Amino acid sequence: MVDFGFGLVPSSRINLDLFDREKYEKLVAMEPDAKICMACGSCTAVCTAGQFTPTSLREAIEDVFNAKDDKALEALKACQLCGKCSMVCPRGINTRHLILSITKVYSKK
Ligand code: SF4
Ligand code: SF4
Repeated sequence: MVDFGFGLVPSSRINLDLFDREKYEKLVAMEPDAKICMACGSCTAVCTAGQFTPTSLREAIEDVFNAKDDKALEALKACQLCGKCSMVCPRGINTRHLILSITKVYSKK
């Protein structure tokens, strides 16, 4: 492999071999805006719960792409649905609805 002197950080990589398309399509059917998230991290940067817990919507979305369902749910477990993240999302995503949709689709119950 050619060393260009830079590369993607591991957390930003999407493993297409692990990616569960069926579940992802379910998520997109519930919340179409899941497709336009650009993993900028603005939501995580302003999240108050994220200051004290591992809460991170950005990480949850990446986990979804890498079939780490439990990790995605863990990253949203302490979310208070306060909506602060929706106010800063540059894509105008209804983040609270996205969080609820991820929780529903990826929960084993
Ligand atoms: S702020 Fe919006 S676009 Fe950025 S990571 Fe969060 S949900 Fe995705
Ligand atoms: S809705 Fe959840 S993820 Fe978004 S800022 Fe509030 S606690 Fe954080």
